[in-house]
Amino acid sequence: MTSPVPARPDSPAPAAPASPSPATSARLFDAARAVIPGGVDSPVRAFGSVGGAPVFIAGARGARVRDVEGREYVDLVGSWGPALLGHAHPAVVEAVRRAAGRGLSFGAPTAAETELAEAVRERVPVAERVRLVSTGTEATMTAIRLARGATGRDLVVKFAGCYHGHSDGLLAAAGSGVATGGLPGSAGVPAAVAAQTIVLPYNDADALTGCFEARGRDIAAVIAEPAPANMGVVPPAPGFNATIREVSAAHGALMIADEVLTGFRVGPAGFWGLEALDGWSTALDDGGAGPAASPSWPGADWRERAAWVPDLLTFGKVVGGGMPLAALGGRADVMELLAPVGPVYQAGTLSGNPLATAAGLATLTLADDAVYATVAARARQIGEIVGAALDAEGVAHRVQRSGSLFSVVFGPGAAERGVRDYEGARAQEAWRFGPFFRAFLEAGVALPPSVFEAWFVSAAHDDAELERIAAAAPSAARAAAAARPPRGTGPDD
Ligand code: PLP
Repeated sequence: MTSPVPARPDSPAPAAPASPSPATSARLFDAARAVIPGGVDSPVRAFGSVGGAPVFIAGARGARVRDVEGREYVDLVGSWGPALLGHAHPAVVEAVRRAAGRGLSFGAPTAAETELAEAVRERVPVAERVRLVSTGTEATMTAIRLARGATGRDLVVKFAGCYHGHSDGLLAAAGSGVATGGLPGSAGVPAAVAAQTIVLPYNDADALTGCFEARGRDIAAVIAEPAPANMGVVPPAPGFNATIREVSAAHGALMIADEVLTGFRVGPAGFWGLEALDGWSTALDDGGAGPAASPSWPGADWRERAAWVPDLLTFGKVVGGGMPLAALGGRADVMELLAPVGPVYQAGTLSGNPLATAAGLATLTLADDAVYATVAARARQIGEIVGAALDAEGVAHRVQRSGSLFSVVFGPGAAERGVRDYEGARAQEAWRFGPFFRAFLEAGVALPPSVFEAWFVSAAHDDAELERIAAAAPSAARAAAAARPPRGTGPDD
């Protein structure tokens, strides 16, 4: 591999530690596979769908990551979302350093937890009460338990292609790594548990209504990514989130908006703020590119203005600023059912960890209007650069967007009609992505290693990064054009 991005003199990423035989990603991957299943601690990192050894990272700063061999890449993974400000933002690192100096973990309350919970509520006032946990998986798992505790019902509705973490009941037809691995779900989930989850096609209001008509009295909650980004980016059809709200409320079920990925990323109030308050929407039939996003803060009149209001929300990624922290929030009467006040149990040795809380608080504090405007503008530009390069090579594709989140879908069917659900996402010419990805990597740009993932832009992505992406895009587009389907698969229509 050649052509690393030249290091910027003002922002050197940390160098790889010295070792007797120089580390290479391939060698480290071999060593890892001997002790870690698949060599990775989260499946999509293994590059299974794009081929080659995963790049082992030595450090990251701003919009760039550096691998163990000293190559630097423009990073569009952003730690899968948390790096909204860019990697290792000095103020975030300093906040963590100061917190670490006071002690790593106490297992007792700290004032900073209240501050972070207040910061969440200030931005997303639907979250009248907030509980901090350590991962998005815990947040959604707890939200489901809470919904069951609140309603006395067992069934949960989820949508195919939406990913809500890896708890047993939520792995059916999940997106993200489950989609990348081509799995229907996971082994090891008891049939009795899986039977409590009803999976519906995304963006299908009739399926939702029909399901509630048939089984509404047994359904505790509908959980959805308000703007799915784990089957690639699939914008909600105009009004779909409002329909989830109406239908679930009409049958006494709760609506859980899983904003683990979108929360504090597409705007201060997440996708809820962008769509329900700011009115952002896109119809795939009209081209689907969506208007430029200009997210705003909720304001005092949010309840009158909101097109839909969920009962519970889950957060992760940005709210922890790159540290293991996530949260759930929502209606006070429902949240107060959590132990120790209520009967729904939830706990965590490291919940509200002081280092993670410090990183999250610093990140939310720095994520001002300018940050969101920059991320939205850069995301739009990057999508346009990549789209133009694919057009130039005649590769049928579409850049799908939900605010500042975007991804590319391949194939004539996807290009013409847009991808609106999991079936469409799986029917695209996904085999074009591997060569496209590898050509970008070769040229010093790291995309998320799966066609089913969103591309993550940060406020640190500057002109130099855009130039590097523009320089790399033609060869990536040529690689996508030259790709051929694996034997036994055909074009998407
Ligand atoms: N929910 C959504 C929408 C996600 O995108 C993810 C992770 O990508 C999760 C939940 C699970 O979060 P975690 O990986 O922190 O457990």
